This record gives sequence, C-alpha cells and structure tokens, in this order.
Amino acid sequence: MNIADNVQDIREKIQQAAFRVGRDPSSVRLVAATKTVSTDVLREAYDAGMRVFGENRLQEAQEKMSVIGRFPGLSWHFIGRMQRRKLKDIVGKFVVLHSVESVEQARSIDAIAQQLGIQQDILLQVNVAEEDSKGGFARKDIREAMEQVDRLPHVAIRGLMTLPPFHEDPEHARPYFAELCLVRDSLAQQSFVHGRPEGLSMGMSHDYQVAIEEGATMVRIGTALFGKRA
Ligand SMILES: *Cc1c(COP(=O)(O)O)cnc(C)c1O
Repeated sequence: MNIADNVQDIREKIQQAAFRVGRDPSSVRLVAATKTVSTDVLREAYDAGMRVFGENRLQEAQEKMSVIGRFPGLSWHFIGRMQRRKLKDIVGKFVVLHSVESVEQARSIDAIAQQLGIQQDILLQVNVAEEDSKGGFARKDIREAMEQVDRLPHVAIRGLMTLPPFHEDPEHARPYFAELCLVRDSLAQQSFVHGRPEGLSMGMSHDYQVAIEEGATMVRIGTALFGKRA
C-alpha cells in the first residue's frame, strides 16, 4: 500500500465512523503524526492531500520545516511533550500546541507569545487515567486550570487532548474518550474570554474510529498512514 491509498482508506473510515454516530465527517481533522518519518515521505503525504503535520520533537520538526515548511496550505501542530527550554522555539512556529500540561507551562507560552505579538492556540492535555507515565491535568484540576489559563491574553484554549492507556483492543479506550468529551461539555457551559474549548484531540492509528464515535475533532495518526516506525 502506498501513502495515497492509506490516506484514502483512513478518510473512508473517518467518514464511516462519523456517520455511525450522526456526525459530519468534515468536523474531524486528520493530523499526520510524523515522528521519524522522512521529509521525502512527507512530501508524498502532502501530494496525497495531507495538510496537517503533527510533530513530537522540535529538532526533527525544524529540519523538516526547513525543507517543506512553506508548502501552500500546510500547517504544523506540536503534539509531543514540551520541555521548558524549548518553548521559545515552539511558540509561534506551530499553529496548535496539543499537549499543554500545566498552568505554569501555559504562562511561559503566554509570555513568549506576547513578545512575538501573537496569540498561540493550545489544547490542554488531560491525563484521564491519571497514569504516572503521562503528563496532563488530572480531571479534578481541569476546571481551575481552564479558568487560570483563560485569563492569559496571548494563549487561546481551543480544546482538550488525551492519550489513554494503551491497549490492543480499541474498545478499552472508549471510556476515556467518552470521559474527555464529558469534561469538554461540562466546561463548555461556562463562559470563557477566549470562547468555548470545542476541540477534542484524541485517537491514534488503532483507536481513531472509536475516538470519532466519542466525539474526536482531531485524530493523530502515524502508523496507519506511514507504516510501522523503525
Ligand atoms: C506517535 C503519536 C501518535 C500516532 O501514533 P500511531 O499509533 O502511530 O498512530 C499520536 N499522538 C501522539 C502524541 C504521538 O506521539
């Protein structure tokens, strides 16, 4: 299978998953998770219609951006954990940062965005299963965090992101996806300066169809697009 076939296959599955629950398939954005994937292969993905690339590692992203960063219509998201000292090179270079994991980190992003004279779109990562190995806000802390981060003028919270515990069977992830959707809905009843946090970034290669059934608006897909990583 080549990448164009994979893109088509994934788009069909996105559409079917959306239709199963009465959603509009165009409300789901396909984000290519591009870690370890070469620039040449990304060019192929672009030619196959991919327009959003999500990177985990800054240096790798910078190398790729220097070659294909200016392709028309292409946007870059940051989906990995963000180290403090790298923030100055991340803010403003990626249209959405998916994995903001503390109020302090949001404050640092706000300060850098202010210097750049921009507003940075972010998602708050929620550690729904409260796993020690993962970053993100505990469910009980998310409302308070939302209120504090919403006061920062140079960041705009566009939604929530989660990485559920890995399990081969995607049905195991369903309750975590459903939970993130509930958290988002409960937050959406409150009014925020920067508007409602509508987005839900959840679902990867093996479980994105379940995530869409539970409301995902962004799915981050690597393996199903590019094959197994080395
Ligand atoms: C690698 C990665 C993905 C994609 O994982 P696949 O299983 O290859 O689809 C999604 N989200 C994040 C944060 C990742 O690091």
